[in-house]
Amino acid sequence: MKFSDLGLSQPILRSLDAAGYQSPTPIQAQAIPQVLSGRDIIGCAQTGTGKTAAFALPILDRLVNSPKPSGRAKIQVLVLSPTRELAAQIGASFEAYSRHTTLRAAVVFGGVSVQRQIQELARGVDVVVATPGRLLDLMKLKALSLADVRVFVLDEADRMLDMGFVNDVMRIAKAVPKTRQTLLFSATLPENIRSLANSLLTSPVHVAVDPISSTAETLDQSVYFVDKAEKRSLLAWVLGDLKIDRTLAFTRTKHGADRVAEFLQQRGISAAALHGNKSQNARQRALDAFKSGKLRVLVATDIAARGIDIDQLSHVINYEVPNTTESYVHRIGRSGRAGASGAALSFCDAEERPYLRNIERSTRVQIRVVGDHPHLPRNKPAGEVSQGAPSSQRDRQRGSGGRRVGAGDARRGGGGDARRGGGGGNGPSRQARGGHSAGRARVDEQIATLEREGSAAGAQAPARPSKPGFSNPRRRRSGF
Ligand code: AMP
Repeated sequence: MKFSDLGLSQPILRSLDAAGYQSPTPIQAQAIPQVLSGRDIIGCAQTGTGKTAAFALPILDRLVNSPKPSGRAKIQVLVLSPTRELAAQIGASFEAYSRHTTLRAAVVFGGVSVQRQIQELARGVDVVVATPGRLLDLMKLKALSLADVRVFVLDEADRMLDMGFVNDVMRIAKAVPKTRQTLLFSATLPENIRSLANSLLTSPVHVAVDPISSTAETLDQSVYFVDKAEKRSLLAWVLGDLKIDRTLAFTRTKHGADRVAEFLQQRGISAAALHGNKSQNARQRALDAFKSGKLRVLVATDIAARGIDIDQLSHVINYEVPNTTESYVHRIGRSGRAGASGAALSFCDAEERPYLRNIERSTRVQIRVVGDHPHLPRNKPAGEVSQGAPSSQRDRQRGSGGRRVGAGDARRGGGGDARRGGGGGNGPSRQARGGHSAGRARVDEQIATLEREGSAAGAQAPARPSKPGFSNPRRRRSGF
């Protein structure tokens, strides 16, 4: 299947050429036609599946093909994101996909000068990507109006509708016209917020490419049982033993992130902390340094767990096991993105064992226990830290470990064969970490799946003639 089979118009298709995308991912293949037809959507897809383009492309296409409001551009699309970093990333996608149009997108989030954002909005923009707090500030300052919004997007909707954000989101939703298209995208959508989500939507179409709470197929997940006090030493050891070039390590608290980063710096390992108490400039600096490879370790709270796309991140470390499956799924989703293989290591102390069990139960994945590291806990979890662990941990982590096997065997004290897996190749193989583009690998894999399932039938459908320009509304699309 090609993007042109989905009915996207020329200016958008040209931007995809520039991005090097040739074929839509499954979530894109499912969502784009629905968004183009004006339907509301609940989209469930794993991180790294191309979610952003699944909504950004058809939204831009609809704007391109609808009459432009007279005078200064008005905000027709509002995208809400839970974190500033994700907002910036979504904004960059809108910018890239609209490069051959006259549409303008602005990103607004807290922690940086509000004045500049006010000026940008005053020039007129078609799309605003925002975090809720700053958007409400700007609304109070009357720096923007949401009266012309026709498409309302909640990315990472489960987070947007949880306790911390729900009031802000609901206030914003009230300021957006009732007659609108609403798109909700999320990797996970727990039952308890489903009804809230439904209250924002009208007869939504459900699009899903993975079961809720599933974890990336290409990830090698392992757990290291360790005493709390030994975690820092274990981290330093793991970094050296596995020769990890770059890793994102998650801590539960901001203070904890600072302490771990300081510890690593003292050991001569380039590291920085990323959390909500840092200034936005410091946050962006740390993220940029990490993305460009200047930092070896980024120690972050869950603020970095959502949506952040870091090319070819081979390892994610849960320095502390998160207490919800959602957090776990989002955190480890930073690795193994867009089809590249990756590894997720969790350091689990005695208090965190119930969290781990819960994660295993709800993801239905048995996480492989690493039984041969130098910081084993004083009280071994019953039957969990087994004998028989493979002798070369590095080999396992670097590409020969079995993804969904091993933990059970390890716990039963079984042989290491299953764990050595043979041929699975699920660790961060050199191939995947090297020249092969992460996005392309995922896309190839997903397209192959689509074709196997016969969903490529659309490939025979005639490509819709392209209709660039604002003066060419499409009759088949409602609302615009
Ligand atoms: P997302 O899930 O939106 O964060 O996207 C994950 C990664 O996949 C990003 O790096 C995108 O640039 C990339 N990507 C998205 N769609 C495609 C596509 N159709 N072809 C190739 N790469 C893609």
